[in-house]
Amino acid sequence: MFSNWCWHEPYQLVIDAGEGLQLALGQKIWAPEVVALTHGHSDHVLGLPGFIASRKFAKGAQEKALTVVFPEGNNGVLAVRELLTRMWSAAEFPVAWVPLRPGGEHRLGKTRVLQAFATAHGGSEPTQGYAVLEERRRLKPEYGGLGEQEIRALVRESGRDALMEGYRHVRFAHTGDAMPIDPALVAGADLLVHDATFLDADDRKWDIHATTLEALDVGRAAGVGCLVLHHLSIRYDRASALPALRAQVAASGFAGECWLLDEERLIDLR
Ligand SMILES: [Zn+2]
Repeated sequence: MFSNWCWHEPYQLVIDAGEGLQLALGQKIWAPEVVALTHGHSDHVLGLPGFIASRKFAKGAQEKALTVVFPEGNNGVLAVRELLTRMWSAAEFPVAWVPLRPGGEHRLGKTRVLQAFATAHGGSEPTQGYAVLEERRRLKPEYGGLGEQEIRALVRESGRDALMEGYRHVRFAHTGDAMPIDPALVAGADLLVHDATFLDADDRKWDIHATTLEALDVGRAAGVGCLVLHHLSIRYDRASALPALRAQVAASGFAGECWLLDEERLIDLR
């Protein structure tokens, strides 16, 4: 009934590892370089043993390194890590475990980092979402009003570097299971996957998951380009939930693309 994972193919990044991850990936099982776990609930971590075992024992790129990023001190994740260690103590797995706290980073490549941010998902265990930040350069704002001639003269005088500044652009972010996040964490993101469990706030008993409207609010406030809603509760019959959800999206004031991630499918909500 419940299994959560999200495969971001361009970045070879998997967010969460629910059961069946390796079956869903099929031959692409060799592609992921990083698995980032948002928290240790069983429906987010129990696919890790099957995934790692398949990479170890199936024919393919067995030596390809795998990094598992997780919230530091999360007991669910540490239990799975111990299981893997005890179960295959004789086998050497090229798995690097990287504990992160909110704000902590793991480099994904020359120009990108994976950064953790804190989420609210109840309980005492640490939970977190992730953002892929791309390092870019732009003209410093104080030179923004100048014409091309003036800019060229300044470049000749003091060099290009003096006019430029580095900044980080949010390419992709994923909340995992969470109450609505602070939009400032994902301002201007190209792609945001946000928890959207409840169509109606009255259906929520505990403050551990967001509503669809809250997720849309985050997307709107952050100016997100593409919003993917995930984790819609199975209590809702899809035949009636989809029209209701499409009406919410249309009325929300969120201007970007909007999709529902459901049962391994992406459903356009526009
Ligand atoms: Zn959870």
